[in-house]
Amino acid sequence: MPPKTPTRADAYVACACGGTMGIVTVEPIPDRPDFMRHTYHCRDCGKDATFDVAKKGAAAKTATKTATKTAIKTAAKTAAAKKTRR
Ligand SMILES: [Zn+2]
Repeated sequence: MPPKTPTRADAYVACACGGTMGIVTVEPIPDRPDFMRHTYHCRDCGKDATFDVAKKGAAAKTATKTATKTAIKTAAKTAAAKKTRR
C-alpha cells in the first residue's frame, strides 16, 4: 500500500514499511506553480518518496489565473479582428 499523501503542513508521513518518513526537501515545481514537491525520506527502510502538495489557497489562485488568461486571450482576439478588418 502506498503511503498516504501528506498535506503541506506535514513534517512526517507514514511509510509503507510501517516506519516514519521525515521531510527532506520542499521544492517548487516549474510546470505546477500552485504545488510544491515535498520529498520525504524513511529512516527505517531508507526509501524516498515525493508528493506534489497543493499550496495554501491554490484553488482560489488557479481560478483567478484562468479568468485572467481568458480575458487576455479575448482581448488579443479582439485586437486581431480589428487589425484584419482594416
Ligand atoms: Zn520505510
